[in-house]
Amino acid sequence: MTDTTNITFYERVEEALQNTQARGAFDRATKRFTALRATAFTSLPAAGDLTRDRARAIRAETLSHLDRYLAQFADAVATAGGQVHWAADAAEANRIIGEIAQVNHVQRVVKSKSMVSEEIHLNHALEALGCEVIESDLGEYIIQLAGETPSHIITPVIHKTKEQVGEILRDKINMPLTHEVTEMTAFVRMKMREIFLTADMGISGVNFGVAETGTIVTVTNEGNGRMTTTCPRIHVAVMGIERLVPTLDDLSVMLQVLARSATGQKLSVYTNLITGPRRAHEPDGPDELHVVLIDNGRSKVLGTEVAEILYCIRCGACLNACPVYREIGGHAYGSVYPGPIGSVVTPALYGVALWSDLPHASSLCGACREVCPVRIDLPGLLLKLRHQTAAAGKTPKYLQVGLRAFRWAGTRPALFHLGMKFASWGSRLIASRGWIKRLPGPLSHWTQSRDFPAFAKESFSAQLKKRRRESGIEGQP
Ligand code: SF4
Repeated sequence: MTDTTNITFYERVEEALQNTQARGAFDRATKRFTALRATAFTSLPAAGDLTRDRARAIRAETLSHLDRYLAQFADAVATAGGQVHWAADAAEANRIIGEIAQVNHVQRVVKSKSMVSEEIHLNHALEALGCEVIESDLGEYIIQLAGETPSHIITPVIHKTKEQVGEILRDKINMPLTHEVTEMTAFVRMKMREIFLTADMGISGVNFGVAETGTIVTVTNEGNGRMTTTCPRIHVAVMGIERLVPTLDDLSVMLQVLARSATGQKLSVYTNLITGPRRAHEPDGPDELHVVLIDNGRSKVLGTEVAEILYCIRCGACLNACPVYREIGGHAYGSVYPGPIGSVVTPALYGVALWSDLPHASSLCGACREVCPVRIDLPGLLLKLRHQTAAAGKTPKYLQVGLRAFRWAGTRPALFHLGMKFASWGSRLIASRGWIKRLPGPLSHWTQSRDFPAFAKESFSAQLKKRRRESGIEGQP
């Protein structure tokens, strides 16, 4: 996956920071989700941290024996009557799904929310074959009508107001203009019913695959996922190879942390467990179930120093907690996966040479690690990727020069102390109530979007020396 927008990460950030409406929307929504998550974790049967430990252990076990669990899962899917396909990369996945569509004379495809389908650009591939592809998740549908890409992995339309959504629905599907959310959803629901009943193929993502039973699990808050996987005669489930759990018991642990982390719910409204296509005696369900297992770089990440990123269950909590994501939103990252997870998984899957800026899109404050339901050490992984970008010679020139200058000054104590004194004096001269609103020259990039704190009157080492002197411990070890 490469960024096709032809503008740099810094230009996208610049653009995002100008959009005050979207910044307000990101800030409000992410803070609300973070608060809901915190409350939801207090309702866990076991203490939240213990459940997170169990969830992490399940992911670690799965990833350390992934070959075995994949084989078990594939056998179980086949035993249940499903067909398993293996795709090494995006092109192969699209070819396989395209062939299923062509063999079955598919014209209309309805698709529920799936990040891996975004990752492989599945809609474009099917449209190139002449299929009509319609997103069934309300947020994804609005994004599709607007001709945009999702800006959050759980709430794709987080950056739009209800007024903007009303206008999109009016312009694109002739909805009488309204800003009432219930009226908009009722209008789209009626339209979607007709689409579900006439679609030849339903495509879904997979939140988890259960190795022992061959069950695929989808978690949604709208009924669209169930309609997508039930009404059309063919169901294609697209799944990253890492999204397995060994057993149904393990699944119950993962479900406890997924909904709580994503939306602050104890359980999502619809948790669908699908094992095989419709049986002869069953009234509902597809005639065929195809499970497409997609590698697309994942097996290359296994065994590397950033392999832990494959534990991710795509809950989106790290986006909501991240102060950088809250300011710039999802589109600025230029990747299907934004936020802290995107800043690690994108370079991990596609190479730091192509995505060298993303590991720097973090303050390393650790808020993402605090909320991750499987305790991924995201700041640690970001640092490892920064090392890799430096080793690949991708560190920007200004940073190389700046760091060399800092090392030169920092290893000369007299010069360093003089510099600190000068910075303290200079910064307090232009500060107002301890904060600098506008810095000069290249430093102005910082104050374009936030204030800068003035340096303390006395440096830390000067204060320490003074305190030691006052308490009479100067010179003691
Ligand atoms: S890295 Fe953790 S918090 Fe972020 S999406 Fe993945 S599981 Fe959720």
